[in-house]
Amino acid sequence: MTQTQQARQASIIAFPQQAGGGTAWQDAQAYLERAARQTGVDAEALLLLRSPFRELHVEVPVRRDNGRLEVFSGYRVQHNGARGPYKGGIRFHPDVDLDEIRALAALMTWKCALVDVPFGGAKGGVHCDPTQMSEGELNRLARRYMQNVSHILGVTRDIPAPDMGTNAKTMAWMMDAYGAAHGYTPGIVTGKPVELGGSYGRESATGRGAVLVLLELCRDLGVAPQDLQVAVQGFGNVGSWTARLAQEAGFRIVALSDLRGGTYNAEGIDVEAFRSWVESGGSPTEFAGGDAVHATDFVTLPCDVLIPAATGEVIHSGNVRGVRATIIVEAANHPITLSAEPVLAQAGVSVVPDILANAGGVVVSYFEWTQNIQQFRWPEERVNEELSARMIGSYREVRETAGARGVTMREAAFVIAVERVAAAIKLRGFV
Ligand code: NAD
Repeated sequence: MTQTQQARQASIIAFPQQAGGGTAWQDAQAYLERAARQTGVDAEALLLLRSPFRELHVEVPVRRDNGRLEVFSGYRVQHNGARGPYKGGIRFHPDVDLDEIRALAALMTWKCALVDVPFGGAKGGVHCDPTQMSEGELNRLARRYMQNVSHILGVTRDIPAPDMGTNAKTMAWMMDAYGAAHGYTPGIVTGKPVELGGSYGRESATGRGAVLVLLELCRDLGVAPQDLQVAVQGFGNVGSWTARLAQEAGFRIVALSDLRGGTYNAEGIDVEAFRSWVESGGSPTEFAGGDAVHATDFVTLPCDVLIPAATGEVIHSGNVRGVRATIIVEAANHPITLSAEPVLAQAGVSVVPDILANAGGVVVSYFEWTQNIQQFRWPEERVNEELSARMIGSYREVRETAGARGVTMREAAFVIAVERVAAAIKLRGFV
């Protein structure tokens, strides 16, 4: 049996009975099954939604600086394209495997539908440790990965973007590798440097979107940002922008971290000072403006708002009872496992789900793609205004659906998204 057949079998037969504690893909499937039960989605459309459209596993050979040849595993999973070209980031990380990429591809399908951008869902990744690779090695890896998956990509087929371990520079290398074979094609990736056709505001977009929905939630809960202590896990693209913009909005940032550990200060942390420290090579645990925190203790620190903005599954059945925040904004993808969810719901924690909280990135990726196709550039004010309108509009839809149905924001977000994708499947006449 091929891997795709196994996946299909697992999702159709085994998984609906599973109560939790599964893999990332199993958790993603559980959200779909739950939404399907809550909406009465057409049974045949559901059959298609349960399995990815295409899964590609490629070998990515790279000559290391020491002359040795190393072969990495690379993936691109296209989950569902009923609403438009596949869209999703490419992750370079040691945890990358097919299960994780498949789950993240499904989340992209739901995210794009929820914020109503005309894309389907995809994700890619390479199993590697970018922190142990030189810039030259990463350049060769990015180019070779692009060459090996490019036959299933295209401006109207599948458009990658950055994710963990990749950034604007990686996108520039990938665009260049694609262009070498197909001619100048800036719309083949989003999240590019502005100088190469990237959009103003794309770099900050995911963090900006997360802060926008947090501000809306605070308004609904009747709490002022000034009265809330915020902890942000991860200080890459998403974490650093989220922390910076949350501080600008008036929240008190009390904890920050990266892979090496974190820092905590109940009086507040100067995010710009922390950024300079980390950018000059300092470890968060040695930052003078706070006390050192072990990476694994981060999610249970005292705070009102916890914003995971790093890797997945950081809040799980083993630590969820220690979580002290009353608001969690999922800036990372799948930071809370399915098994931890009911504990948070019972404790009355407001969770803004990933497919809403971190959708700012794909919204501005859509703006970037639109600008590339039109060969036109929008000013940053327009990008941020349109981002704000979409994020707040989507947040409102989720809150209203959650209120009307008496369900959590995650359940509401999935209900909206699954209904939209199922409707597109029916309209296309797939089934
Ligand atoms: P990044 O590579 O720029 O940064 C990741 C950060 O997390 C780094 O600071 C790293 O040190 C830290 N980290 C890694 N493992 C950690 C751990 N176990 N504990 C604490 N910190 C850890 O990645 P990014 O682009 O900022 O992505 C972060 C998350 O946001 C991912 O889940 C990604 O899927 C999601 N996301 C990113 C975007 C985007 O536009 N980049 C969009 C939507 C969602």
